[in-house]
Amino acid sequence: MHEYGMLASLLDRAVEEARGRGARSITQLRIELGELSGVSREALETAFAALSPGTLADRASLAFHRVPGRIHCDVCGFTGPVGAGPEEADEDDLPPICPRCAIPVEILEGRHVALGEVVILLGPSRAPARADDGPRADRT
Ligand SMILES: [Zn+2]
Repeated sequence: MHEYGMLASLLDRAVEEARGRGARSITQLRIELGELSGVSREALETAFAALSPGTLADRASLAFHRVPGRIHCDVCGFTGPVGAGPEEADEDDLPPICPRCAIPVEILEGRHVALGEVVILLGPSRAPARADDGPRADRT
């Protein structure tokens, strides 16, 4: 399933980033979901539930930021959001169609799924102790 692979790589990157920041765990994972990505939010949630156990994101919640789609029509020159026309836009209909000409149009924005903010819980300082090696010899 498409969403599994997609979520797996987002999760990988999130875990990597969280580790790099010294996280004990990830509390929330934000995903930018393009309106025209054709990716199902529910499927991503399902994939997350299946893939997150055992990772730093084990107990993380998933939050979505919806990136609105923008389209451009070469024929009439229309540029704007999807669903601006009289007909109700169906997000699952890809490619999107021009609200004026009812023909498939170019997608300018909103086709990507990207990792947004990774909210982490910092762990106890397990960072390598920066204690000075040995006692200081600056006593008189
Ligand atoms: Zn058009």
